[in-house]
Amino acid sequence: MNIKKITIAIDGFSSTGKSTIAKQLAKELGYLYVDTGAMYRAVTLYAMQFGYVDQNKLEKEALIKSLGNVNLKFKYNEKLLFSEMYLNGVNVEKEIRTIELSKLVSKVSAISEVRKKLVEQQQKMGVEKGIVMDGRDIGTVVFPDAELKLFMTASPEKRATRRYKELLEKGHDVSYEEVLENVQQRDHLDSTREDSPLIKAEDAIAFDNSDMGLKEQFERIYQLVLIKQEQLLD
Ligand code: C5P
Repeated sequence: MNIKKITIAIDGFSSTGKSTIAKQLAKELGYLYVDTGAMYRAVTLYAMQFGYVDQNKLEKEALIKSLGNVNLKFKYNEKLLFSEMYLNGVNVEKEIRTIELSKLVSKVSAISEVRKKLVEQQQKMGVEKGIVMDGRDIGTVVFPDAELKLFMTASPEKRATRRYKELLEKGHDVSYEEVLENVQQRDHLDSTREDSPLIKAEDAIAFDNSDMGLKEQFERIYQLVLIKQEQLLD
């Protein structure tokens, strides 16, 4: 019997714990984990550094013209046990998680040329399967043929509370209200943009984890993986 490697697509609203589950699954299965949000965040950081975006403006054409200069790489950190994002050779893992950047990322990620560039890279990373990728359009655009698709939801308040705690733990200076507003604003922008809006793929399994601990969530999702692998046995 031959256990086939599969592609697992995890989409959903902001701060639904997609990356936590995706990382855990990848570790358990020996799969590659890719956080596509980090890629959109890194392009946004680049746009901020060059003054193409701030709270009041977006210089779309200028950003599109310089996209060729944006080089993104994930490098595995042996100590932290996850891949960190490098923008043009510099580790930007901390800078891409600030609330200031979170307020701008949905504007940048709505640009079709940005999406095209990143989707191409994401599809290349997944050619050999054995991958868990999380984002907003993985099951709909990046890997429409993924064997397992999950769509994560939770109430905005639960999500903001989780995110707020996470940011405080990492030493960011934010208020709960600011985080809640950002989560709701991103949900709205990501779901209503023209190119690749955040929607549940028809064949995705919806997963509301508002009242579910991490352990239960992981066990349930892992079961879904095992069922899928069994269906695909030679
Ligand atoms: O996943 P994370 O919250 O880090 O994503 C940050 C932002 O990147 C999202 O709010 C969304 O605007 C954008 N994004 C996207 N498509 C993806 C992943 C992230 O548009 N596949």
